[in-house]
Amino acid sequence: MYPSRFHYEAPRTLDEAFEAIQAYGDEAKILAGGMSLIPLIKLRFAAPACIVDINNIPGLDYHEEEGGSLRIGALCRHRTLERSSLLRNNYPVMYATAPLIADPMVRNRGTLVGSICHADPQGDWASVMLSLGGEIIARNAEGRERTIPVSEFVVGPFQNSLQTGEIAVAARVPAAQGTRKGTYLKLERRVGDFATVGVAINLEMSGGTVNRAGIALTGVGSNNIKCTSAEQALAGKSLNSSTIDQAARLAAEASEPKSDVRGSAEYKRHIVYTFVQRGLSSREARAA
Ligand SMILES: Cc1cc2nc3c(=O)[nH]c(=O)nc-3n(C[C@H](O)[C@H](O)[C@H](O)COP(=O)(O)OP(=O)(O)OC[C@H]3O[C@@H](n4cnc5c(N)ncnc54)[C@H](O)[C@@H]3O)c2cc1C
Repeated sequence: MYPSRFHYEAPRTLDEAFEAIQAYGDEAKILAGGMSLIPLIKLRFAAPACIVDINNIPGLDYHEEEGGSLRIGALCRHRTLERSSLLRNNYPVMYATAPLIADPMVRNRGTLVGSICHADPQGDWASVMLSLGGEIIARNAEGRERTIPVSEFVVGPFQNSLQTGEIAVAARVPAAQGTRKGTYLKLERRVGDFATVGVAINLEMSGGTVNRAGIALTGVGSNNIKCTSAEQALAGKSLNSSTIDQAARLAAEASEPKSDVRGSAEYKRHIVYTFVQRGLSSREARAA
Protein backbone atom coordinates (compact mmCIF):
# COMPACT_ATOMS: atom_id res chain seq x y z
CA MET A 1 0.00 0.00 0.00
CA TYR A 2 1.19 3.55 -0.67
CA PRO A 3 1.39 6.01 2.22
CA SER A 4 -0.99 8.94 2.21
CA ARG A 5 0.50 12.24 1.01
CA PHE A 6 2.86 13.97 3.44
CA HIS A 7 5.18 16.94 3.51
CA TYR A 8 8.89 16.02 4.01
CA GLU A 9 11.40 18.17 5.88
CA ALA A 10 15.11 17.33 6.24
CA PRO A 11 16.46 19.95 8.67
CA ARG A 12 20.20 20.41 9.15
CA THR A 13 19.99 21.72 12.71
CA LEU A 14 17.80 21.03 15.73
CA ASP A 15 16.48 24.62 15.50
CA GLU A 16 15.24 23.93 11.95
CA ALA A 17 13.68 20.67 13.18
CA PHE A 18 11.80 22.55 15.91
CA GLU A 19 10.57 25.08 13.33
CA ALA A 20 9.20 22.25 11.20
CA ILE A 21 7.42 20.48 14.05
CA GLN A 22 6.03 23.76 15.39
CA ALA A 23 4.46 24.45 12.00
CA TYR A 24 2.61 21.11 12.03
CA GLY A 25 2.06 20.49 15.76
CA ASP A 26 0.65 17.01 16.45
CA GLU A 27 0.54 16.34 12.70
CA ALA A 28 4.36 16.16 12.51
CA LYS A 29 6.35 12.96 13.08
CA ILE A 30 10.08 12.67 13.68
CA LEU A 31 11.86 10.16 11.42
CA ALA A 32 14.96 8.60 13.01
CA GLY A 33 15.80 5.11 11.70
CA GLY A 34 12.37 4.83 10.08
CA MET A 35 12.26 1.11 10.88
CA SER A 36 8.95 1.42 12.72
CA LEU A 37 7.53 4.66 11.30
CA ILE A 38 7.86 3.73 7.61
CA PRO A 39 6.01 0.39 7.93
CA LEU A 40 3.28 2.21 9.90
CA ILE A 41 2.74 4.89 7.25
CA LYS A 42 2.91 2.34 4.41
CA LEU A 43 0.13 0.40 6.12
CA ARG A 44 -1.68 3.70 6.77
CA PHE A 45 -1.79 3.03 10.50
CA ALA A 46 -0.14 6.46 10.71
CA ALA A 47 -0.76 9.37 8.35
CA PRO A 48 1.36 12.31 9.51
CA ALA A 49 0.97 15.56 7.55
CA CYS A 50 4.71 16.17 7.85
CA ILE A 51 7.73 13.93 8.37
CA VAL A 52 10.71 15.62 9.97
CA ASP A 53 13.78 13.56 9.06
CA ILE A 54 16.49 14.25 11.68
CA ASN A 55 19.18 12.16 9.96
CA ASN A 56 21.01 15.22 8.55
CA ILE A 57 21.45 16.86 11.95
CA PRO A 58 25.04 16.46 13.11
CA GLY A 59 25.93 15.59 16.70
CA LEU A 60 23.10 13.17 17.50
CA ASP A 61 24.89 9.90 16.64
CA TYR A 62 26.95 9.21 19.75
CA HIS A 63 27.06 7.25 22.97
CA GLU A 64 29.43 8.36 25.69
CA GLU A 65 29.92 8.39 29.43
CA GLU A 66 29.84 11.69 31.27
CA GLY A 67 30.22 11.88 35.04
CA GLY A 68 29.60 8.15 35.39
CA SER A 69 26.34 8.13 33.44
CA LEU A 70 25.87 7.00 29.84
CA ARG A 71 24.26 9.27 27.25
CA ILE A 72 22.97 7.87 23.97
CA GLY A 73 22.14 10.34 21.21
CA ALA A 74 18.91 10.23 19.20
CA LEU A 75 20.69 8.89 16.10
CA CYS A 76 22.79 6.20 17.79
CA ARG A 77 21.93 3.01 15.85
CA HIS A 78 21.39 -0.47 17.26
CA ARG A 79 24.43 -1.55 15.19
CA THR A 80 26.74 0.94 16.92
CA LEU A 81 25.64 -0.35 20.31
CA GLU A 82 26.14 -3.94 19.17
CA ARG A 83 29.83 -3.15 18.44
CA SER A 84 30.49 -0.89 21.41
CA SER A 85 33.43 -1.74 23.66
CA LEU A 86 32.01 0.71 26.23
CA LEU A 87 28.84 -1.40 26.43
CA ARG A 88 30.80 -4.64 26.43
CA ASN A 89 32.82 -3.49 29.44
CA ASN A 90 30.28 -1.51 31.50
CA TYR A 91 26.69 -2.24 30.39
CA PRO A 92 26.31 -6.02 30.03
CA VAL A 93 22.51 -5.99 29.73
CA MET A 94 22.73 -3.52 26.81
CA TYR A 95 25.57 -5.41 25.17
CA ALA A 96 23.57 -8.66 25.38
CA THR A 97 20.48 -7.00 23.86
CA ALA A 98 21.85 -5.15 20.82
CA PRO A 99 22.52 -8.24 18.63
CA LEU A 100 19.06 -9.62 19.46
CA ILE A 101 17.18 -6.66 17.95
CA ALA A 102 15.62 -7.64 14.63
CA ASP A 103 18.13 -8.37 11.81
CA PRO A 104 21.28 -6.64 10.51
CA MET A 105 19.34 -4.41 8.09
CA VAL A 106 17.09 -3.06 10.84
CA ARG A 107 20.01 -2.73 13.24
CA ASN A 108 21.93 -0.63 10.70
CA ARG A 109 19.21 2.05 10.66
CA GLY A 110 17.08 1.75 13.81
CA THR A 111 17.90 3.72 16.95
CA LEU A 112 17.56 3.05 20.67
CA VAL A 113 15.86 6.43 21.27
CA GLY A 114 13.44 5.82 18.37
CA SER A 115 12.62 2.42 19.83
CA ILE A 116 11.74 3.91 23.24
CA CYS A 117 9.69 6.70 21.57
CA HIS A 118 7.82 4.10 19.53
CA ALA A 119 6.78 2.37 22.81
CA ASP A 120 6.01 -1.00 21.27
CA PRO A 121 5.35 -3.42 24.20
CA GLN A 122 7.49 -5.91 22.29
CA GLY A 123 10.42 -3.51 21.94
CA ASP A 124 13.48 -4.86 23.72
CA TRP A 125 15.23 -1.57 24.61
CA ALA A 126 12.44 -0.27 26.86
CA SER A 127 12.85 -3.29 29.17
CA VAL A 128 16.60 -2.78 29.19
CA MET A 129 16.21 0.89 30.10
CA LEU A 130 13.69 0.02 32.82
CA SER A 131 16.17 -2.44 34.32
CA LEU A 132 18.90 0.24 34.30
CA GLY A 133 16.72 3.05 35.67
CA GLY A 134 17.14 4.81 32.31
CA GLU A 135 15.70 8.17 31.28
CA ILE A 136 14.78 10.09 28.13
CA ILE A 137 15.95 13.66 27.65
CA ALA A 138 13.35 15.72 25.80
CA ARG A 139 14.03 19.21 24.47
CA ASN A 140 11.66 21.90 23.23
CA ALA A 141 12.10 24.79 20.81
CA GLU A 142 13.19 27.14 23.62
CA GLY A 143 16.02 24.74 24.51
CA ARG A 144 14.40 23.66 27.79
CA GLU A 145 15.23 20.02 28.62
CA ARG A 146 13.10 17.59 30.63
CA THR A 147 14.54 14.35 31.99
CA ILE A 148 11.84 11.70 32.10
CA PRO A 149 12.33 8.22 33.63
CA VAL A 150 11.48 5.57 31.01
CA SER A 151 8.97 4.18 33.55
CA GLU A 152 7.01 7.46 33.11
CA PHE A 153 7.93 8.13 29.50
CA VAL A 154 6.09 5.09 28.13
CA VAL A 155 2.46 5.70 29.06
CA GLY A 156 0.73 3.00 27.00
CA PRO A 157 1.16 0.78 23.99
CA PHE A 158 2.66 2.99 21.26
CA GLN A 159 2.21 6.08 23.44
CA ASN A 160 4.88 8.23 25.04
CA SER A 161 4.70 11.31 27.23
CA LEU A 162 6.49 13.75 24.89
CA GLN A 163 4.65 17.04 24.70
CA THR A 164 3.77 18.63 21.37
CA GLY A 165 6.86 20.35 20.01
CA GLU A 166 9.38 18.25 21.97
CA ILE A 167 12.09 16.03 20.47
CA ALA A 168 13.77 13.21 22.40
CA VAL A 169 17.41 14.22 21.97
CA ALA A 170 19.01 11.43 24.02
CA ALA A 171 18.57 8.57 26.45
CA ARG A 172 20.52 8.46 29.70
CA VAL A 173 21.59 5.63 31.99
CA PRO A 174 22.48 6.81 35.53
CA ALA A 175 25.70 5.87 37.27
CA ALA A 176 25.76 2.38 38.79
CA GLN A 177 25.77 1.63 42.50
CA GLY A 178 28.66 -0.83 42.23
CA THR A 179 29.81 -3.15 39.47
CA ARG A 180 27.22 -3.84 36.79
CA LYS A 181 26.39 -7.44 35.95
CA GLY A 182 23.49 -8.64 33.86
CA THR A 183 22.12 -10.08 30.68
CA TYR A 184 19.12 -10.11 28.32
CA LEU A 185 17.38 -13.36 27.50
CA LYS A 186 14.94 -13.46 24.60
CA LEU A 187 12.70 -16.22 23.31
CA GLU A 188 11.82 -15.68 19.65
CA ARG A 189 10.12 -17.96 17.15
CA ARG A 190 12.93 -17.42 14.65
CA VAL A 191 16.05 -15.27 14.50
CA GLY A 192 15.14 -11.60 14.06
CA ASP A 193 11.60 -11.92 15.39
CA PHE A 194 10.07 -9.81 18.12
CA ALA A 195 10.16 -11.36 21.59
CA THR A 196 7.71 -14.03 22.65
CA VAL A 197 9.25 -13.30 26.06
CA GLY A 198 12.24 -11.09 26.90
CA VAL A 199 13.85 -10.66 30.31
CA ALA A 200 16.32 -7.84 31.10
CA ILE A 201 18.47 -8.24 34.20
CA ASN A 202 20.77 -5.55 35.57
CA LEU A 203 22.57 -6.05 38.88
CA GLU A 204 24.71 -3.44 40.59
CA MET A 205 26.93 -5.27 43.07
CA SER A 206 29.60 -4.81 45.71
CA GLY A 207 31.41 -8.06 46.29
CA GLY A 208 28.67 -10.68 46.48
CA THR A 209 25.93 -8.25 47.58
CA VAL A 210 23.28 -6.80 45.28
CA ASN A 211 23.09 -3.03 45.87
CA ARG A 212 20.44 -2.49 43.22
CA ALA A 213 18.60 -4.95 41.01
CA GLY A 214 16.71 -4.14 37.83
CA ILE A 215 14.44 -6.74 36.22
CA ALA A 216 12.04 -5.96 33.36
CA LEU A 217 9.96 -7.99 30.94
CA THR A 218 9.20 -7.75 27.22
CA GLY A 219 6.20 -9.16 25.36
CA VAL A 220 4.20 -10.30 28.38
CA GLY A 221 1.95 -7.30 29.00
CA SER A 222 0.41 -4.28 27.34
CA ASN A 223 3.69 -2.50 28.15
CA ASN A 224 7.18 -3.50 29.16
CA ILE A 225 6.93 -4.47 32.83
CA LYS A 226 9.27 -3.39 35.62
CA CYS A 227 9.32 -6.15 38.25
CA THR A 228 9.55 -3.97 41.37
CA SER A 229 8.82 -6.73 43.91
CA ALA A 230 11.45 -9.04 42.43
CA GLU A 231 13.96 -6.19 42.40
CA GLN A 232 13.26 -5.36 46.04
CA ALA A 233 13.58 -9.02 47.02
CA LEU A 234 17.19 -8.99 45.77
CA ALA A 235 18.34 -5.63 47.16
CA GLY A 236 20.91 -6.00 49.92
CA LYS A 237 21.06 -9.80 49.46
CA SER A 238 23.53 -12.18 47.91
CA LEU A 239 22.57 -14.42 45.02
CA ASN A 240 21.81 -17.96 46.15
CA SER A 241 19.26 -20.56 45.12
CA SER A 242 16.70 -19.22 47.59
CA THR A 243 16.91 -15.50 46.64
CA ILE A 244 17.07 -16.38 42.94
CA ASP A 245 14.00 -18.60 43.16
CA GLN A 246 12.04 -15.94 45.07
CA ALA A 247 12.92 -13.22 42.52
CA ALA A 248 11.99 -15.52 39.62
CA ARG A 249 8.61 -16.33 41.20
CA LEU A 250 7.86 -12.64 41.86
CA ALA A 251 8.78 -11.71 38.28
CA ALA A 252 6.53 -14.45 36.90
CA GLU A 253 3.69 -13.12 39.09
CA ALA A 254 4.27 -9.60 37.74
CA SER A 255 3.93 -10.75 34.12
CA GLU A 256 0.58 -10.35 32.37
CA PRO A 257 0.91 -12.61 29.32
CA LYS A 258 -1.89 -13.35 26.89
CA SER A 259 -2.32 -16.56 24.92
CA ASP A 260 -1.68 -16.06 21.19
CA VAL A 261 0.06 -17.69 18.24
CA ARG A 262 3.38 -17.41 20.10
CA GLY A 263 2.20 -19.58 23.01
CA SER A 264 -0.21 -19.87 25.91
CA ALA A 265 -0.20 -17.41 28.81
CA GLU A 266 0.85 -20.23 31.14
CA TYR A 267 3.81 -21.14 28.92
CA LYS A 268 5.00 -17.53 28.69
CA ARG A 269 4.77 -17.08 32.47
CA HIS A 270 6.84 -20.21 32.90
CA ILE A 271 9.45 -18.79 30.50
CA VAL A 272 9.62 -15.60 32.58
CA TYR A 273 10.33 -17.71 35.68
CA THR A 274 12.93 -19.80 33.86
CA PHE A 275 14.69 -16.81 32.26
CA VAL A 276 14.91 -14.81 35.49
CA GLN A 277 16.28 -17.86 37.27
CA ARG A 278 18.71 -18.56 34.44
CA GLY A 279 19.80 -14.93 34.12
CA LEU A 280 20.47 -14.56 37.85
CA SER A 281 22.28 -17.90 37.98
CA SER A 282 24.46 -17.15 34.97
CA ARG A 283 28.19 -16.82 35.29
CA GLU A 284 27.92 -13.14 34.28
CA ALA A 285 25.54 -12.37 37.15
CA ARG A 286 27.34 -14.35 39.78
CA ALA A 287 30.91 -13.43 38.87
CA ALA A 288 30.86 -10.30 41.04
C1 LIG B 1 11.43 -6.42 10.52
C2 LIG B 1 11.58 -5.68 11.83
C3 LIG B 1 11.91 -6.39 12.97
C4 LIG B 1 12.05 -5.74 14.19
N1 LIG B 1 12.38 -6.47 15.29
C5 LIG B 1 12.57 -5.84 16.47
C6 LIG B 1 12.97 -6.57 17.63
O1 LIG B 1 13.20 -7.77 17.60
N2 LIG B 1 13.10 -5.88 18.79
C7 LIG B 1 12.90 -4.54 18.87
O2 LIG B 1 13.06 -3.96 19.96
N3 LIG B 1 12.54 -3.82 17.78
C8 LIG B 1 12.38 -4.43 16.61
N4 LIG B 1 12.02 -3.69 15.50
C9 LIG B 1 11.83 -2.22 15.64
C10 LIG B 1 13.18 -1.51 15.46
O3 LIG B 1 13.99 -1.76 16.60
C11 LIG B 1 13.07 0.00 15.28
O4 LIG B 1 14.34 0.46 14.90
C12 LIG B 1 12.64 0.81 16.48
O5 LIG B 1 11.42 0.36 17.02
C13 LIG B 1 12.37 2.28 16.12
O6 LIG B 1 13.56 2.96 15.92
P1 LIG B 1 13.74 3.91 14.67
O7 LIG B 1 14.95 4.71 14.93
O8 LIG B 1 13.71 3.09 13.45
O9 LIG B 1 12.46 4.88 14.81
P2 LIG B 1 11.46 5.45 13.70
O10 LIG B 1 10.83 4.34 12.96
O11 LIG B 1 12.12 6.51 12.91
O12 LIG B 1 10.39 6.14 14.68
C14 LIG B 1 9.53 5.37 15.50
C15 LIG B 1 8.60 6.31 16.27
O13 LIG B 1 9.33 7.06 17.24
C16 LIG B 1 9.27 8.47 16.94
N5 LIG B 1 10.61 9.01 17.16
C17 LIG B 1 11.79 8.45 16.72
N6 LIG B 1 12.82 9.17 17.14
C18 LIG B 1 12.30 10.20 17.85
C19 LIG B 1 12.89 11.30 18.56
N7 LIG B 1 14.21 11.46 18.62
N8 LIG B 1 12.08 12.17 19.21
C20 LIG B 1 10.72 12.01 19.15
N9 LIG B 1 10.11 10.98 18.52
C21 LIG B 1 10.89 10.10 17.86
C22 LIG B 1 8.81 8.57 15.49
O14 LIG B 1 8.13 9.78 15.23
C23 LIG B 1 7.90 7.35 15.38
O15 LIG B 1 6.65 7.64 15.91
C24 LIG B 1 11.87 -4.32 14.26
C25 LIG B 1 11.55 -3.61 13.11
C26 LIG B 1 11.40 -4.27 11.90
C27 LIG B 1 11.07 -3.46 10.68
